[in-house]
Amino acid sequence: MRVLVVEDEVKMAALLRRGLTEEGLTVDVAGDGERAVTLADDSDYDAVVLDVGLPGIDGFETCRRIRRSGVWAPVLMLSARGSLQDRVVGLAGGADDYLVKPFAFAELLARLRALVSRADTDRSSIVEVGELRLDPDTHQVWRGDAEIELSAKEFRLLETFMRHPGYVLSRTQLLEQAWEYDFAGHSNVIEVYIRYLRRKIDVPFDLVSIETVRGAGYRLRKDGGG
Ligand code: CA
Repeated sequence: MRVLVVEDEVKMAALLRRGLTEEGLTVDVAGDGERAVTLADDSDYDAVVLDVGLPGIDGFETCRRIRRSGVWAPVLMLSARGSLQDRVVGLAGGADDYLVKPFAFAELLARLRALVSRADTDRSSIVEVGELRLDPDTHQVWRGDAEIELSAKEFRLLETFMRHPGYVLSRTQLLEQAWEYDFAGHSNVIEVYIRYLRRKIDVPFDLVSIETVRGAGYRLRKDGGG
């Protein structure tokens, strides 16, 4: 099991490295978020332990960027604060679990193992929502038996929806998770691509899977449009 620890405090980082190594895990440490994003993209980690308080981009932003680069290893966030707000922001940013500092090392290890075993069980990398199926490795998409050709951006957008079936995703969340960074904040690019996507995954099948939720965003129906 390979773990990336992202922590700027040297003592804490050393403690985690030693503890996890003693448990037989392979550990890399990144001292800031940008380094973490690069490492996560280059290596195949089974999990990421991510501190919220980091120099430069914080843990939330680091998590968003890791997800945006297409890495879906489980992320366990560490925070000294632990307010509900932190938790909400962390989970919305794509973290899988959350631990408040100070914590017992045994607790961290237990949470980490639980996350990894959960990820292993649903690792058949194909993502399914109703009749929609998406293979992140081969970039193929199907509805039922029909294969659907998508552009790279349409694919990322659909993947983001399919990782959060039934959830309302705001334009900002979609931009953050599916788009290049510099697009954030302006343009109707999401509306345009939602339209493209509907034309490919819904219209030909006479179904509606991506719903507009007024004033809030969009939602992929849990049944994938039936
Ligand atoms: Ca820190």
